[in-house]
Amino acid sequence: MIKRVKTIFAILLVALASSLLCSQSFAADKVYRLKLAHSWPTDFPIFGDAIKNMADMAEKMSNGRIKIRIDSKNKHKAPFGIFDFVKSGQYDMGHSGSYYWKGKVPNTLFFTSMPFGMTAEEQYAWFYYGGGFELMQKVYAPHNIVSFPGGNTGNQMGGWFRKEIKSIDDLKGLKMRIPGFAGEILAKVGAKPTNIPAGELFTALEKGTIDALEWVGPSLDLRMGFHKIAPYYYTGWHEPGSELQFMVNKKKWDSFPDDIREILRVAMRAAAYDMYAQSYHESAENWAKMKTEYPNIKVKTFPQAVLQAMKDANDELISEMAKKDPLAKEIIESQQAYLKKVRAWTKISDQSYYESMEKLK
Ligand code: CA
Repeated sequence: MIKRVKTIFAILLVALASSLLCSQSFAADKVYRLKLAHSWPTDFPIFGDAIKNMADMAEKMSNGRIKIRIDSKNKHKAPFGIFDFVKSGQYDMGHSGSYYWKGKVPNTLFFTSMPFGMTAEEQYAWFYYGGGFELMQKVYAPHNIVSFPGGNTGNQMGGWFRKEIKSIDDLKGLKMRIPGFAGEILAKVGAKPTNIPAGELFTALEKGTIDALEWVGPSLDLRMGFHKIAPYYYTGWHEPGSELQFMVNKKKWDSFPDDIREILRVAMRAAAYDMYAQSYHESAENWAKMKTEYPNIKVKTFPQAVLQAMKDANDELISEMAKKDPLAKEIIESQQAYLKKVRAWTKISDQSYYESMEKLK
């Protein structure tokens, strides 16, 4: 009798162990097939590279358990539809620019780059250690989206103009492609801002739909050919460190096991930082090329009075936004306080270093 009970017990134990092993190996073998939609044309350099990097890293780090299918705007036909795709779950992931959604959710505009705001390094410090990431989730969570930094372009150039901008009057009535908060500023000083997706920029400029545009900087602008039509190339003020974004459908994100979430988080973060390095490299390469191969480009800085008028418009608009919405106020106060603190350090570290070097033979 005792022997039989022992045998039954042993059989049960083996059955239990094997079922446990089985369920574990089932979890470890599960393949997560995710679909990602982005705002850029197929094989778009730098931005597209960051997405592919992220997907490759996630697949390798997960030993093939994460497979991400990437659809460009050529496939899904909606470069500015990424927010809705991810929110609804039509796509699991997205890659785009947070400030593209300001018409839907005004507080999304704070998480790309703010005019007269932080540079890439300063903003990364804010995102990861200064409360920026948490504020971004506060804006996105009600829309069923988790948003992550998705690659920085570095300081952007102020754009391409057909004519020289000598005073603020030259901006009045000017039709310019310029997204984000900078667009609001230009509207306030009398220009006509609009946003147009990357793939349609050259045609819009060529056809005269717009008189001027900003895109990124030498890393991506030269290959677009804008200089052929608008040779005045202004230095930046409006996007001192533009961060793209990865988005993940929140319901999906919350359903992933810890290891899958962690692999994706690390892959997105590494790909974002790598894009910043690549952007810096490509900017330097193309800037060097520009001087020799594109002699017709006239590099300019906006006159002091024009910059001041835009800064005044910026300050007025920012304080209006803060008054209207408590979350906007919280983000603005966080960014302004952080900028003040971090800039004091940038000045004594980087700026002092550049100035010292300039004076040496
Ligand atoms: Ca831009």
